[in-house]
Amino acid sequence: MRQAAQRILCLVPALVLLAPFSAHAQLEPTFGPLPVFEFHSNFWINLHHELYFEAKLRENKSVPAPRPNAPAQNPLQNKLRTMADAATPLTPPEQAAWEQAVQFYLRNFADKDLLFNNDLILLKNQLDDFEGCDDLSGAHKKTCDAGLPANLTQVLDAAAPVYRAHLWPDQDRANRRWVARVAPLVEEQGVGIAERLAEIYQAKWPKYKIRVDVAAHANWAGAYTTLDPLRVTISSTDAANQGDEALEVLFHEASHGIAEPVEAAIARECRQRDKAIPRDLWHALIFYTTGEVVKPVLSKSTKSASETSASTSPHPDRPPAAADPDEYVPYAVREGLYERGWNDYLQLLTRFWQPYLDGKSSFDDAIARMVSSL
Ligand SMILES: [Zn+2]
Repeated sequence: MRQAAQRILCLVPALVLLAPFSAHAQLEPTFGPLPVFEFHSNFWINLHHELYFEAKLRENKSVPAPRPNAPAQNPLQNKLRTMADAATPLTPPEQAAWEQAVQFYLRNFADKDLLFNNDLILLKNQLDDFEGCDDLSGAHKKTCDAGLPANLTQVLDAAAPVYRAHLWPDQDRANRRWVARVAPLVEEQGVGIAERLAEIYQAKWPKYKIRVDVAAHANWAGAYTTLDPLRVTISSTDAANQGDEALEVLFHEASHGIAEPVEAAIARECRQRDKAIPRDLWHALIFYTTGEVVKPVLSKSTKSASETSASTSPHPDRPPAAADPDEYVPYAVREGLYERGWNDYLQLLTRFWQPYLDGKSSFDDAIARMVSSL
């Protein structure tokens, strides 16, 4: 869920970055203006990810299978997967326009990664900026000429009415439901969590609200974040992003934009000790940290945050206490990330990073000890 430093602009010369003129049609938040994040259910972003998803399905690669433990509150997980599942049948011309668009994505984008490919990142950001437009050619409104390559504009403008008629209403509703579910948590806890994470990472939290595009489909991981500008795309229908867990996913994604000092410190320590920089330690660390920071907030236990942290922080020298059914289970544990190759990192994090989170060690010491034990 991380974008490598992507600062090179424009591999597609025709993808001209025009200034956005459209009003940003931000969701009317159910719970009033929210701190920290700005949520959008953007038609073009949703269409783009739908087409990418359907092209990937055709290619049969990297499509997230429906999770066996999909929670009951996520009825959309197995519905609305593709246009073929639309409630009303498509007319032959609609079918042709949609098929042409999926084939275009299959030919041009399906073998590229939404997170790492510059063309796809630029296209996503460009679609963000034309959120309020009915088409991308500027046919109805000059300022809506998105400056995309002509064949891509034609494909998207032809697919748009089909999507708008058959899938978008349900997907937009799912997005709005998802925002409404997480909004009270963001309202109550957002600022506190953001401040705590910034303090941990010795970084500044952005002064602006981080843009979050909510879409039926995101990437294979269910959410991804691109930098410069910092923007999060998150799936409203992915089982891992539902309920209270959505709050952790949001802050994990946002952490990609602020935890650079950790990555730099790990790299620096490794160079000093002449060690290879471990590829995913930084990512495991932000999973671990976000989980620990949201745990006291999301646990149903009545314990205070400090009691919860002191009594339940994992420690390799201490036998794990019996699982408390009221304690929040962080994403990386729930989704088995540590078991799939990160167990050594988990050991390092519980032994050396957790004391830093508990205020018993400094940032530099924690990083140095982790790296020396690699
Ligand atoms: Zn990530």
